[in-house]
Amino acid sequence: MKERQLNDDELQNLINEVEPYANKGEVAEYIPALARANKTDVAAAVYTVDGRVFQGGTYGHTFTLQSISKVLSLALVLDERGEEEVFSNVGMEPSGDPYYSISKLEFSNPTKPYNPMINAGALAITDLLPGRSKERKLANFIDYVRQLAGNNRIEYNKNVADSEFQTSFLNRSLLYYMKQFGVIGGKVEDIIDLYTKQCAVEIDCLQLARIGAVFSLNGKDPEKGTQLISERTASICKTFMVTCGMYNASGEFAIKVGVPAKSGVSGGIMAVVPNRFGIGIYGPALDDRGNSIAGWKLLQKMNERYAFSIF
Ligand code: GLU
Repeated sequence: MKERQLNDDELQNLINEVEPYANKGEVAEYIPALARANKTDVAAAVYTVDGRVFQGGTYGHTFTLQSISKVLSLALVLDERGEEEVFSNVGMEPSGDPYYSISKLEFSNPTKPYNPMINAGALAITDLLPGRSKERKLANFIDYVRQLAGNNRIEYNKNVADSEFQTSFLNRSLLYYMKQFGVIGGKVEDIIDLYTKQCAVEIDCLQLARIGAVFSLNGKDPEKGTQLISERTASICKTFMVTCGMYNASGEFAIKVGVPAKSGVSGGIMAVVPNRFGIGIYGPALDDRGNSIAGWKLLQKMNERYAFSIF
């Protein structure tokens, strides 16, 4: 088994190799609070399906989930409401467009976001979170993340949520467009409030790696063996991660790394190596398509060394 060679030192060596790439990227600035991130941070954790843990780099810092939350809200909503309801509102196809794009919405007939990994689709999924009020929906989402991450102190970062809430003009326009065509049931301001808080849930690399391990085990808790996500839902989420998880670089990522993964503009990446391990990465310097530049390189090097591509 190749991962026997994986240990803290190996991981640290690989991180040392990719750290220089961070200087070539830029931190996200369109959410003011994210612009304050330390561009040169690079951290990673691996959580194996038998519960071993490896860490390296500037780990221990927390960061916000941002778009990684889209996979988790999708998993929760799919298990609560079922495929039929979810996919009557949101499609299954990669769009090839940037995550904030509105253009394909206008040309879909009936109006339907392309998939749940772009903002339009994710906003429609947030609208479907279980709970009668936005407060209850948020509490249910955070509880769910706590279970997946195995940590009941996880919370959202109020500064980051407020900062995004005040500047979410594009996301509001996506919501108003979808509201006009009946894709959204709730109130635009309630959904934007909930979505910005969902994106601002704070996590560290190890917790993220553990969530990756849950997906890697087809939805099972790596410590207790309980089914946290149904197998079918875990499989759907992993498929979306492969086809749409790395923004409009998902095809290239599938060729160069070849595992389900989801990134976010805070610089997080969750990667899932089926039946082997989950990986959590933080590196806030992003490439021109919004993926952590050092994080991507790290996964590429890990695949070269541990041959984990599923293709
Ligand atoms: N909260 C961010 C937004 O909606 C998430 C984007 C991302 O991470 O891709 O703009």
